[in-house]
Amino acid sequence: MNYKYVIIGADAAGNSAAGQIRRNDKEGSIAILERGGIISYGACGLPYTLSGEIPETEKLIHFTAESFGKKVHADVLTRYEVVSVDFSSQMLFVKSPKGDREIGYEKLLIATGASPVRLPFIDYSSERVFELKTVPDANRVLSFIETHQPRSAAILGAGYIGLEAAENLRMRGIEVTIFEVMERPMPRLSAEFGDEISRELSARGVTLHTNTPVESVRFEENAVQITAKGRMYAFDFLLSAPGVRPATSFLNPDSIAMRQGAILVNAYGETSVPNVYAAGDCATVPHQITGESVWVPLGHTANKTGRIAGMNMSGSKVSFPGVLGTQLFKLFDKVIASTGLTAEEAEKAGHEIMKTNLVRPSKAGYYPGSGKVYLSMVADASSREILGVAMHGPLDSYGLIDSAAALISQNATVDEVAWLDMAYAPPFAPVWNALVSAAAKFSGGD
Ligand SMILES: Cc1cc2nc3c(=O)[nH]c(=O)nc-3n(C[C@H](O)[C@H](O)[C@H](O)COP(=O)(O)OP(=O)(O)OC[C@H]3O[C@@H](n4cnc5c(N)ncnc54)[C@H](O)[C@@H]3O)c2cc1C
Repeated sequence: MNYKYVIIGADAAGNSAAGQIRRNDKEGSIAILERGGIISYGACGLPYTLSGEIPETEKLIHFTAESFGKKVHADVLTRYEVVSVDFSSQMLFVKSPKGDREIGYEKLLIATGASPVRLPFIDYSSERVFELKTVPDANRVLSFIETHQPRSAAILGAGYIGLEAAENLRMRGIEVTIFEVMERPMPRLSAEFGDEISRELSARGVTLHTNTPVESVRFEENAVQITAKGRMYAFDFLLSAPGVRPATSFLNPDSIAMRQGAILVNAYGETSVPNVYAAGDCATVPHQITGESVWVPLGHTANKTGRIAGMNMSGSKVSFPGVLGTQLFKLFDKVIASTGLTAEEAEKAGHEIMKTNLVRPSKAGYYPGSGKVYLSMVADASSREILGVAMHGPLDSYGLIDSAAALISQNATVDEVAWLDMAYAPPFAPVWNALVSAAAKFSGGD
């Protein structure tokens, strides 16, 4: 079977591309190959199904294979797993419920996302070990909780997925213990962020062991036994969240350029192979500040890069301006967010930097519900352009990170931001918000 366009992976990047292709090319045949049974789901909402905040996982599914197929007039083939690709003959080798298949393409998009990292000392076939990547993963946890009424859970990894899962399991009344090999959670950010996350977890009754590599995991009939730093712990179940890696193992690394498993693409989504594009979590993106190809596996980036690749595969010439790695997550009543470079990253990229941090109220200090925003800013010492901002604060202060991202992408200097006309009214913001105040500190004001 041959198609004009073949897309591997039917989620954020793949489906965004399909929509754009169909917009540009009303007739060309499209096949979307998906190894799972569900397409087009909001993985980012999965943690919130664990608490019941989102009452059922079905709410996260935007389209079925059938409805999306109709919408973009494509063959959406679920349970079709691409096991290898021959780029010279433009042929895919696929395992499907109908047996092995060979599918040819004129243009190919690889949008296979990322896979959870699996640790060698865990038997992932145990009924007491879980991951959180797909809708079936979340359904498994929920059905275990319903059947076994567990009282305790261990989480491996204090990245944002582990932390979001911790919050939501805790909200369900489960005792949660997190094991983290690094010296603090979210180690890319400064120690202040690790301390704040640790404080918040502790205040909510979540136990966090940092600097604690898990040495072994044993599954008993009714428990999971974890050994770490010579101590033994017992839990009702284990959620493994040590990170993700690009889902590119079906590709021969000699046949396509990759960096640490992520497919290298240019600003048009083109790979090193003619007629082959890649987008989303399986591919690199250009960094707006450093110009480097970086791997930033995030949902908003996957949607955008998928859209760009789809446009370019079907006749447009649109280039992606790159990312700042803007991200945020919720931890109980706090938002933790960052955009651009950290101080270490900026120095590594060759900048002589200046940096500052401060605490400011989130609304007028006297207004009920005003909380504290902690914000750190890094800028280039000679151009005075802002290079990075990180913050934590009450949930409704999150907009500061989007403002920071917008300013950094426009090369704003600290002197411009110090006098920026940002909104003030007591229920929303103080006169001098944390972003403006941080910039003003560099200009001698505060
Ligand atoms: C719990 C959780 C919370 C998250 N929260 C956030 C958040 O708050 N903000 C944010 O920006 N991002 C978040 N993310 C990340 C975000 O979900 C991803 O960046 C996004 O889903 C990537 O989209 P994608 O299309 O590149 O890959 P995916 O969504 O992983 O889709 C890739 C698809 O390809 C299929 N596939 C893989 N290999 C093959 C193959 N060989 N053959 C056929 N099909 C294949 C997969 O089954 C999958 O359906 C979260 C992720 C998780 C798991």
